[in-house]
Amino acid sequence: MAEIDLKNIVKRYGDGFPAVNDVSLSIDNGEFVILVGPSGSGKSTLLRMIVGLEDITEGELFIDGKRVNDLPPRDRDLSMVFQNYALYPHLTVYENIAFPLRLNKEHYDENEVSARVERAAKMLELGEHLQRKPANLSGGQRQRVAMGRAIVRDAKAFLFDEPLSNLDAKLRGQMRTEIARMQRQLGVTTVYVTHDQTEAMTLGDKVAVLKRGALQQYASPQELYREP
Ligand code: ADP
Ligand code: ADP
Repeated sequence: MAEIDLKNIVKRYGDGFPAVNDVSLSIDNGEFVILVGPSGSGKSTLLRMIVGLEDITEGELFIDGKRVNDLPPRDRDLSMVFQNYALYPHLTVYENIAFPLRLNKEHYDENEVSARVERAAKMLELGEHLQRKPANLSGGQRQRVAMGRAIVRDAKAFLFDEPLSNLDAKLRGQMRTEIARMQRQLGVTTVYVTHDQTEAMTLGDKVAVLKRGALQQYASPQELYREP
């Protein structure tokens, strides 16, 4: 679990208006923070800087008090789920979920791999489908496999970039409940990007509202409801 601190973070692409403009934000250990804002407001860019896929132009990023601006993604120990998650079509659900364990620098023996895959699969209700290939799964099940892959390792934090935006409304509601339950169960610090107001107001402990790259508000959903 990790504490994530952003201090005056700026991102400029070329010399235009900054994509992220002087954002300061503290995320506590175990906290579930939703990053919300219209398209183009800088949400993805901010998430990608946290995970290390995008350089920070100005400002400082700390994970557990350590400055990580120059640390490569694999050394940050964060786990990200993308909007367009790519599963390996030739691998079973089991092997898709196990994949990060096989890549990892620590060595996991097969007993450990199977214990972890089964724990993740159980949490995501995929236990019955471990031997299937992605082509034989529903959209929601595929999204769950992508999440399984993110939670199978001990990451310091989970980062979600609009993970439900490709699902229909019914499935989205269902997955939302599952994500909230999973986050509570694991208690891992989570940053979740969405442009969906319902998700923003129902899912997390805190909501960070971005507008044109700047942080407009950072408060609990209850506090935001009370705003005029
Ligand atoms: P959001 O995730 O809120 O939709 P983004 O972080 O994707 O917003 O984008 C924020 C701004 O930065 C937008 O104006 C977008 O066009 C710009 N932007 C994002 N990625 C790049 C890039 N690789 N090169 C140039 N501009 C970019
Ligand atoms: P989202 O808003 O869901 O983050 P986008 O469709 O804005 O996604 O961006 C998809 C990809 O294109 C990202 O990798 C982003 O960095 C890149 N991108 C976005 N805007 C620009 C831009 N103006 N110039 C170059 N790349 C961009």
